[in-house]
Amino acid sequence: ITVPVPKNEQLNSYAPGSCEREKLKKALSELHNDFVEIPAIINGKEVKTGNFGNCIEPHNHQHILAQYHKVNKQEIDLAVEAAMKARIDWEEMPFYHRSAIFLKAAELLSTKYRFLLNSATMLGQSKNAYQAEIDSACELIDFWRFNAYYAQKIYEQQPLVSPKGEWNFSEYRALEGFIFAITPFNFTSIAGNLPTAPALMGNTVIWKPAGTAVYSGYFVMKILKEAGLPDGVINFIPGSGAEIGNFVIDSPYLAGIHFTGSTKVFNDIWKRTANNIHLYKSYPRIVGETGGKDFIFAHTSADVKSLAVACLRGAFEFQGQKCSAASRLYIPDTIYDEWFKEMVEMLETVKMGDVMDFSNFINAVIDKESFDRIKNYIDYAKNSPVAEIIWGGNCDDSVGYFIQPTLIKTTDPMFCTMQEEIFGPVLTVYVYPEKDFSKTLDLCDKTSPYGLTGSIFAQDRKAILEANNVLRHSAGNFYINDKPTGAVVGQQPFGGGRSSGTNDKAGSALNLQRWISARSIKENF
Ligand code: GLU
Repeated sequence: ITVPVPKNEQLNSYAPGSCEREKLKKALSELHNDFVEIPAIINGKEVKTGNFGNCIEPHNHQHILAQYHKVNKQEIDLAVEAAMKARIDWEEMPFYHRSAIFLKAAELLSTKYRFLLNSATMLGQSKNAYQAEIDSACELIDFWRFNAYYAQKIYEQQPLVSPKGEWNFSEYRALEGFIFAITPFNFTSIAGNLPTAPALMGNTVIWKPAGTAVYSGYFVMKILKEAGLPDGVINFIPGSGAEIGNFVIDSPYLAGIHFTGSTKVFNDIWKRTANNIHLYKSYPRIVGETGGKDFIFAHTSADVKSLAVACLRGAFEFQGQKCSAASRLYIPDTIYDEWFKEMVEMLETVKMGDVMDFSNFINAVIDKESFDRIKNYIDYAKNSPVAEIIWGGNCDDSVGYFIQPTLIKTTDPMFCTMQEEIFGPVLTVYVYPEKDFSKTLDLCDKTSPYGLTGSIFAQDRKAILEANNVLRHSAGNFYINDKPTGAVVGQQPFGGGRSSGTNDKAGSALNLQRWISARSIKENF
């Protein structure tokens, strides 16, 4: 078998006047005007419970896009049964056929459903066209193509020594049970990757999408079905978080968890599986990507213009709702004024509003709970003697959940907005005396429990080297003179350690290896 060597999917720019722009606009208005009823999908069948949740447009929260059927304990039992029933045939299906299904899904998304899935992501998650194209088109297509390629590399076994008269080899089996995929709202690509990566390796899956991204998740399910995914391999069960999670985790057939979400929820999952450990046949594989408090660290030799662009894009694209988003900036006093001037110039041109207007850089945050949490941090900073809002700070949820890109300056490197994950468009700035570069690097490393992403901006190679060494564990994805967001599949495998997760790099062989179990076989002749 030779899975084609993948190339990253080309980005559409949606430039004014382009035919792609027109097609996307058409798909957007069709979806906006169409009401969808979303069932659970268990064993390939639509399951309706009549217990509804709403999918709304965050930038226009009175508009209901769809209603979905929330599952209960009874449907979860059906999903577990379906996954357990489908697993033998699925694992026995030759890898060529399993990977062909995901390669076909990538093709369908690239050529037939690109505008539809981008529109669903834009409307349901309030992402602008450019961010949606990166996420629900290119990144998801890349996950499917690159995973198939990496899986093949894994299956090409390491040659083992076979002394005279014997034959030794390894075989990779799927795990003995089902995998539980719990997916976030912020990336349709991650939502599509978490159930399909274990499935590619021969496992069957129960997929619980985030309540705020059931809409795009449902279209991903439909693409997989059209690509030929057999019934029961991935079972889609929308519903309310903790309750569903607990029922699934309490199943004795659980063999693994593939998670992206908050550190708190991930910790709760570990505790619950630990308490259940006597129930399971094997130790469940637990793979998670969780929170971040990602930094940009500037040295006095930094190129200030590119530093400012990285702050704007790294902190504010998709309203800062990326685990990788820059949320703390350490900047020396020598370049602060120049940096701030550059920031203000750019921020004055940034537009905020509905996703239908492609010139809006900022759209809405995902829901009321996020809006309130982010606003509380901003209000706290407004009233603090050690912090000031130096840009933005306005919040308005009358039509949609809009929060202006906000810069907070603090004199206290331990201030809460320097420490806690806000998951919104807020960047906190700490200005250090130039001579304290080394001391401040140490502070950046020691004062955060997270280790997801971070950047150093410097022209001075010695400064880059020192930052690289001191911040060795502060960021699983470390960028030199670039923003800390925007990892590309096949280019920067993504993930971090500490409280940011298990660092089983999404979109790499390291991740796929977690979903198989090796068997060594020796035969004597
Ligand atoms: N892969 C994304 C990036 O590099 C972030 C993923 C996430 O937010 O979980 O920006």
